[in-house]
Amino acid sequence: MADNKDFYEILGVGENASKDEIAKAYRKLAMELHPDRNPDPAAAERFKAVNEAYSVLSDGKKRSEYDMLRKYGAFAGAPGGAGGPGGFGGFDFSQYTQPGQSQTFHFDLGDLGGIGGVGDLFDMIFGGGAGRPREEDTRGSGNVFMDIDVPFKTAAKGGTAVINLKRGEPCLACAGSGAKAGTSTKPCPQCGGEGTVTVGLGQFGVKRACPTCAGRGKVVEEPCPDCGGTGTKPGKRKIRVRIPAGISDGGKIRVRGEGNIGPYGARGDLIITVHVKGSDRYEREGLDTTSTLKLNLSEALSGASKVVETTQGKVKVKIPAGTSSGKKIRVKKKGIKDERTGRVGDHYVEIEVEIPKKMNKEQKKLFEEYSKSMGWEE
Ligand SMILES: [Zn+2]
Ligand SMILES: [Zn+2]
Repeated sequence: MADNKDFYEILGVGENASKDEIAKAYRKLAMELHPDRNPDPAAAERFKAVNEAYSVLSDGKKRSEYDMLRKYGAFAGAPGGAGGPGGFGGFDFSQYTQPGQSQTFHFDLGDLGGIGGVGDLFDMIFGGGAGRPREEDTRGSGNVFMDIDVPFKTAAKGGTAVINLKRGEPCLACAGSGAKAGTSTKPCPQCGGEGTVTVGLGQFGVKRACPTCAGRGKVVEEPCPDCGGTGTKPGKRKIRVRIPAGISDGGKIRVRGEGNIGPYGARGDLIITVHVKGSDRYEREGLDTTSTLKLNLSEALSGASKVVETTQGKVKVKIPAGTSSGKKIRVKKKGIKDERTGRVGDHYVEIEVEIPKKMNKEQKKLFEEYSKSMGWEE
């Protein structure tokens, strides 16, 4: 397994180090370890590591993602870590956990997909695909996948969604054991009570939940007639899920331990894909929002000061004289704020100049004069 990489440790700086401190530490180490100066092969290895660390910590966006992963237990869930049985412990590296709210995991793939997302960062930290659970690990783990629609405003500002979840609940007749009342369980003959079987050979062997006992390590002598020995029955549950501010369409929220009862008897996770509904007022692209502002001819020609509604409240926008239809005026940092990364998008005001449909006699006369003075007609 790849080692956990602490980029701060590699550069020998504190986690609150400023950009300058990081750059300085990097320069110093790079000088010392550069293969041209240092023939030691160990130095070459370190030089590589230093470059890698610097490439992340010197980039504000990557650094904040890395900080988040580092802080929120990604390392605890790393291979061999506290994630649980079965290799990678079902810790899905495309999500991260929020401390103090162990039930809620947020991660928004939409935002990070473009520029070397967290997946790439993890590949860097753990080497290759080591951090990501293989398909089989996820499929068998009792995870429940569902999609929800979230109003534009909730996605922009954060909020909650109430979810009616269909999932397996423990069978009451057998208290989830799957054994008929009065009968008992015995160690599973296939796995000898281990709950896992090894598939593949030698060092390439992978432990899987035992198919005979579904990872429980025990089999029943006589199955419970109520649940057929599975220990679970179809059930429903209402849960409240926090929607993080700034989540994009297609973003995912992971709610730990709210899935089905999976192998090992533990619940899988509920993984929700968020579909952000459109807004009458705004177009959204990433964290940027756009609204339309109608101007009359006079405002377009002479300029104006207008109050515009953004997802972050009202802002005053100065329209310069001579503004045409279609022009976009940027209002910095008034787009959507992503609470997880702290990034804030911009708001754009798209101008639509309204041309009067009719003119009365007097207006026509005035306009002819205006046209003349513009040289539009003889
Ligand atoms: Zn039962
Ligand atoms: Zn077994």
